[in-house]
Amino acid sequence: MTPPPFVVVSDFDGTITEKDLVVALTTFVDPANIERVRQINHRQLALKPGLAQLFSTLPSSRRTEYEAFCAQNGRLRTGYHAFRQALADQGIPFYLVSNGLDFIIDAVLGPPTAGEYRITNRAIFDTSVITIDWQYPCEPPCPGGCGLCKHRVIRELQSHYQAPVVLIGDGITDWNGAQVADRVYARARLSEMMTAHHMPYRPFDTFNEVWQDLSDALAHPDIFQGR
Ligand SMILES: [Mg+2]
Ligand SMILES: [Zn+2]
Repeated sequence: MTPPPFVVVSDFDGTITEKDLVVALTTFVDPANIERVRQINHRQLALKPGLAQLFSTLPSSRRTEYEAFCAQNGRLRTGYHAFRQALADQGIPFYLVSNGLDFIIDAVLGPPTAGEYRITNRAIFDTSVITIDWQYPCEPPCPGGCGLCKHRVIRELQSHYQAPVVLIGDGITDWNGAQVADRVYARARLSEMMTAHHMPYRPFDTFNEVWQDLSDALAHPDIFQGR
């Protein structure tokens, strides 16, 4: 197998979508979740128990209502479809990797398109409230606490493809993955954290900007050495 020039890993909530739907949905159903979200963002509550607590406030019986909410509020960030198409045209693998839950992503995007892979947590609806089937737990050397471990996903993709991995993200769920990615496109909370820790990243607002920047890497693959 000829390695692809790079592999793209993208977060979903607040990255592919403009709004973080985990936050929007769980705080819409139960405003007490606003405080939990604040604690998660300030790392006073670890991600995995934090996510479990957020979803434990959602009765399973209201699933259709949640799906409608996500479909209605899941506006995509500018340039996403063109970005996906550009990657597909170049044969660059695209991984949507989310700590959020499968039903949220399905409600917004429908089934995966060609060249797209999804690694997400799964919602279990046959209990009175939503529980989470964790799909990709942390493994050393990840410092732990991820829920779905982007650190592990990225290391496994680097080794599987023998290619650099680009991470696109916006928040705390991307933090551990950002430590091992070969290049990071960051916005919002993630960019603040990267700045605070003097870690290199590229800011972005739209997927057009990300693609423009990545196109350079196709012409000059060694560009990744400078992240
Ligand atoms: Mg996010
Ligand atoms: Zn982890």
